[in-house]
Order: sequence, then C-alpha cells, then structure tokens
Amino acid sequence: MTRRILVLPGDGIGPEITAQATRVLEACQTLGLDAEIEQGLVGGSAYDAHGVPLPDETLDKARSADAILLGAVGGPKWDRIEDLSKRPEKGLLGLRKELGLFGNLRPAILYPQLAEASTLKPEVVSGLDIMIVRELTGGIYFGQPRGIEERDGQRVGFNTYVYSESEIERIGRVAFEMARKRNGKLCSVDKANVLEVTILWREVMDRLAAEYPDVELSHMYVDNAAMQLVRAPRQFDVVVTGNMFGDILSDAAAMLTGSIGMLPSASLNERGQGMYEPCHGSAPDIAGQNLANPLATILSVAMMLRYSLDEADLAARIEAAVGKVLDDGLRTADIASEGKRRVSTSEMGDAVLAAL
Ligand code: ATP
Ligand code: MG
Repeated sequence: MTRRILVLPGDGIGPEITAQATRVLEACQTLGLDAEIEQGLVGGSAYDAHGVPLPDETLDKARSADAILLGAVGGPKWDRIEDLSKRPEKGLLGLRKELGLFGNLRPAILYPQLAEASTLKPEVVSGLDIMIVRELTGGIYFGQPRGIEERDGQRVGFNTYVYSESEIERIGRVAFEMARKRNGKLCSVDKANVLEVTILWREVMDRLAAEYPDVELSHMYVDNAAMQLVRAPRQFDVVVTGNMFGDILSDAAAMLTGSIGMLPSASLNERGQGMYEPCHGSAPDIAGQNLANPLATILSVAMMLRYSLDEADLAARIEAAVGKVLDDGLRTADIASEGKRRVSTSEMGDAVLAAL
C-alpha cells in the first residue's frame, strides 16, 4: 500500500534541511519504500502566504498523511505579530493538537565520533543512549482553569496540572513498549511527594508494570532525575514523564550530547501516525547560508521509517549512513573540530546519499 508523507519545510533553516532529508526519502523510494511525498506550508511561511500559520489545506494534507516531516518554524520576522494565535509556533501546536500527537519521543544519543562536543567527561557520557518519552498534549501546559486575575488586591497567575488515568495509561504504554524493544528498563519521573496528579501517575505506571513483567520499572522524583541526568546519565535507558518535566529533562539530556544539530524527535498519536522533526529550532542566525546541519532532520526520517512506516531496515540503513559520514570526518559548522573536513548543508546531504 502506498504511504503518504507530508513534508513541511517551515521557516529559517527548515527549507534547507528538509531539502536534504527529502533527498534521503527519495533514495528510500528507490530502495523499495512505497510512498508518495507531498509538500505543504506551515509557520511563518504559511502566514506570509495565507495570513495564518496553519492553513486548512495543510491541515487536510496532514490528516491524510501517514507521516509528516517538519523542518522548523518561527523567526524574528514574525515576532511582532500582535495576534498570538497567528504566530508561527501556533502552527506547530495546532498540528499537535489536531492530530492528537500525545507521545513525544526524544532520543539523546552521544555519537562516539562527536564525544568531544559533550559538556561532560568522556567516561561519564561515552555510549550514552537515552530515550525520553514525554506526554505532549496534556498536563500543566493545557490544564483549565488558567489565567491571570485579581485576587485580594493583587494579580495572581495560575495554571492547573491535570492528567486523567487514560492519558497516563496511553503514554505509559508507549514507554513500556519502547522499553520492551530496547533494554527492558524504564524510569518514570514524577513529583509524587508533592503533587497529587503525579501520585496517580505513579499508580497507573505500577499497574501497567504488572502487564509488562519483562520490563523493570523504577520511579524517580524530577529534581533527583535532573541531578542524576548530569551526574551519571548512563543509568537511564527509557524515561517516561509528563509534558512539563519532559520538556525540561529532554532539553537537558539533548545538551549532554553537545550536538543539538544531530538530534531527531517523533510525536505520535494513537493510530501510529507521526510528526517527525529535529529537536533544534529554525536557527534564523544561519538561515539561507547552506551552513546548517541536516543530520537531525535526516535522522528524523529514520525515526519516521521505524515508527510510522514499519520500515526498520531502511531506518537502520540511514542511521548507518550517518555513522559512516561522521566516521569519514565530515562536519558541518556546529559539530566542527580540528582535523575534520568542514562541509555545507548540501555537501552533508550528498555524503549521506552516497553512503546510503
Ligand atoms: P526554538 O525556540 O525554535 O527552539 P531556539 O532559538 O531555541 O529556537 P535554535 O533555533 O535551535 O534555538 O538555535 C539555537 C542555536 O543553535 C543557534 O545558534 C543556531 O544557529 C544553532 N543551531 C540550531 N540548529 C542547528 C543546525 N541544524 N545546524 C547548525 N546550527 C544549529
Ligand atoms: Mg528553544
């Protein structure tokens, strides 16, 4: 059956990096991937063309796609749009919400070829390979009521932290399945000593653990998890946590690897439909200069093949091709080091294609 892939280049470096990733997808077509590739507008570029960051046409294409590849959205050009609902970032949030993309997978992998880029000592990080599973459509970022109002003569701001059992259970299942496929180790991060909602979180995770006897579940408070992540990150394999804790911990974990230009991510819904994008942003400071590292986006294609298109072999081939170009000493500016060959965005794409 022909699968449908929607590519949304977005803003800033988005078009440059998705162009290279699209070449990789096209190479996969010649290697047996039965898929159609379409393009659409989102973010600032959609705002410029249609006055909204998420045009109906894009949303329709997204709904009928099996998988979406997104570059990045936003940039200074759109920072002064007064109507917040029209800012580029709302295009991304709208897609997540409309497609129900509740399961965010954020790997933090230290490439041995890039070990010197880490902020930690080699003996602490070598071999680091963590998968953070973050709940993406609930928790305190979405809870009602929320607002800023006058109480007893002063203004107060408030948000509500809510998770239902079913929301916890579905993200829990994603994490247990992931742990089962990896090393059978799962750490659930909460703040169950202080927050009731995370007492429920812990209860549901414990209940699921009974269904996955092959997975060893542990629990950790988020403050300790942050400390352990920088102290001894290799103790983690799969980590599952709510939206806000996951936001913070996954950014910290990404930085441990020292290569923001290398890290992909996936956001999945209940049907296995997914949106795939690099962890980094639109990098307006280097946009249009053929300088950006396309590898995070190319590795996002590998995640797409593995998690939405059931093509794990092709995914592994792409990952191996990326390993090969790093072994060969090719480096974009963000991962440059002495004695290595500096290449542009498109040259990096050429090299990955050749390796593939
Ligand atoms: P956002 O709010 O969208 O996450 P941001 O401002 O936090 O964006 P990025 O856009 O990720 O951050 O950029 C942070 C820094 O990292 C910038 O200096 C940018 O040039 C650099 N950077 C980000 N992605 C890449 C990439 N793929 N290749 C090279 N440099 C990058
Ligand atoms: Mg950012």
